[in-house]
Amino acid sequence: MERIGNFINNAVVFDDNARLAPVFNPAEGAQIADVELSSEATTVAAVEAAANALEGWSATPAVVRARVLFKFKALVEENRNELAELIVRQHGKVFSDAQGEITRGLEVVEFACGIPHAQKGEHSLNVGRGVDSHSMMQPVGVCAGITPFNFPVMVPMWMFPIALACGNTFVLKPSEKNPAPAMFLANLLQEAGLPEGVFNVVNGDKTSVDVLLSHPAIEAVSFVGSTPIAEYIYSTASQNGKRCQALGGAKNHLVAMPDADPDQVVNALMGAAYGSAGERCMAISVAVCVGDETADKIVSRLTDAAKSLKVGPGIGQEVEPDMGPLISGVHREKVLGYIDQGVSEGATLVVDGRDLKVAGHENGYFVGPTLFDNVTTDMRIYNEEIFGPVLSVVRVNNLEEAIRLANDHEFGNGTAIFTQSGRAARQYQEKVKVGMVGVNVPIPVPMAFHCFGGWKRSAFGPLNMHGPDGVRFFTRMKTVTSRWPESSQMQAEFSMPTMK
Ligand code: NAD
Repeated sequence: MERIGNFINNAVVFDDNARLAPVFNPAEGAQIADVELSSEATTVAAVEAAANALEGWSATPAVVRARVLFKFKALVEENRNELAELIVRQHGKVFSDAQGEITRGLEVVEFACGIPHAQKGEHSLNVGRGVDSHSMMQPVGVCAGITPFNFPVMVPMWMFPIALACGNTFVLKPSEKNPAPAMFLANLLQEAGLPEGVFNVVNGDKTSVDVLLSHPAIEAVSFVGSTPIAEYIYSTASQNGKRCQALGGAKNHLVAMPDADPDQVVNALMGAAYGSAGERCMAISVAVCVGDETADKIVSRLTDAAKSLKVGPGIGQEVEPDMGPLISGVHREKVLGYIDQGVSEGATLVVDGRDLKVAGHENGYFVGPTLFDNVTTDMRIYNEEIFGPVLSVVRVNNLEEAIRLANDHEFGNGTAIFTQSGRAARQYQEKVKVGMVGVNVPIPVPMAFHCFGGWKRSAFGPLNMHGPDGVRFFTRMKTVTSRWPESSQMQAEFSMPTMK
């Protein structure tokens, strides 16, 4: 059985004291590797490697740092099929979706390649007589990234390309459920010319995470995962004096107005609810239909579309399926439990994915597309993040009710409105308390040069991922005020200095 270790100082390092966790191929339901759950000592070794590399890397000119990332991007492009296959094997998503994930990650690398421009400070001449002022955006130091299973390439790439471009060194703790893609990226960074210790991967669980949250050399912690863990990471890192951004879970609403084209709405919902088996933080899990007529039209079309959706392994089929399996047997049981719960809570189960069997893959962690109608806000299937292919339809009377629904929900990651009315769209985007809004766009994931992040309990910390916030998060601002007097005429001033 393959054993996945760690990547420290540009070398694969195994830890004799590590516990092991199984890594599965979700389409087969079979173990394919063991991953090390590293000891505290190995995690400390990764942090120390990053700390030792900091001085040299932070002093490397930004253009030279950017060139390593240009090379890294070219290497990822060259190896993208192999990387996508690795994602499919350990995550389960279909091959074209894995390719899409790589592309979205690479867009952040492209953004980071422009760091000589993005990290320029500002300069003001003559803020007072003979006095100039300028700011510098200096690296923060050693940074840690802790990432979830659902985007094993894209989410780490939200973090480390910008961190490295800004002159920081990095320790990545990927999900223990699919650790191989991170190791693959580490090798490509080394091949691109990244010096020893600048980027390290430590595989593990809470033991490793707690070292990263408490080690004095770590200055900044970037986290993406579920809300309870995001909250723990944010509060612990903050208590330990580290800067932290921690993105959490979601329950994203798509509002269908009566004037929206029902076919467009249904196509949007199919992809957004069932793509990647619903295991996306931007997946739509609630369709809010305004008016019974709208709801009836959409539910009947969704029923047909969901029943004809193709489910199967993400690779190796003549025709690619629309969605693959869930990440694990445990998660499959949890999702099935939510469907049972929806039935017992009184929602109308219109399409039932519980009994799906994929021929030749009977042990895979598949759940078929599931559709509930008449879901209400007191139900657990409405309030909790299911993270599976389960779409709930909630019926409301008007736009105000739809806005209230989204605003009252604990989460506020993404949302969308489908309408032909500019006024309704404008009202929705202005009033809704959600971080990312789509207007006739079901999954409004911002491009790399904008920022990604939710509101409410979907994100903790003031700075979002990538874009200008990414550069701010991975740099510290310093402002210098300077004067070069011709002679020693400076006298002591006891009042607050002002420019005359
Ligand atoms: P998770 O919270 O279980 O794990 C995320 C990371 O935290 C992993 O690296 C894991 O090893 C670590 N971790 C888990 N338990 C821990 C603990 N007790 N102490 C310290 N570290 C711990 O999340 P997951 O199941 O891997 O990912 C799915 C979740 O991530 C969903 O809730 C999804 O919405 C969320 N997500 C959010 C975004 C976003 O941008 N907001 C993006 C992707 C995923």
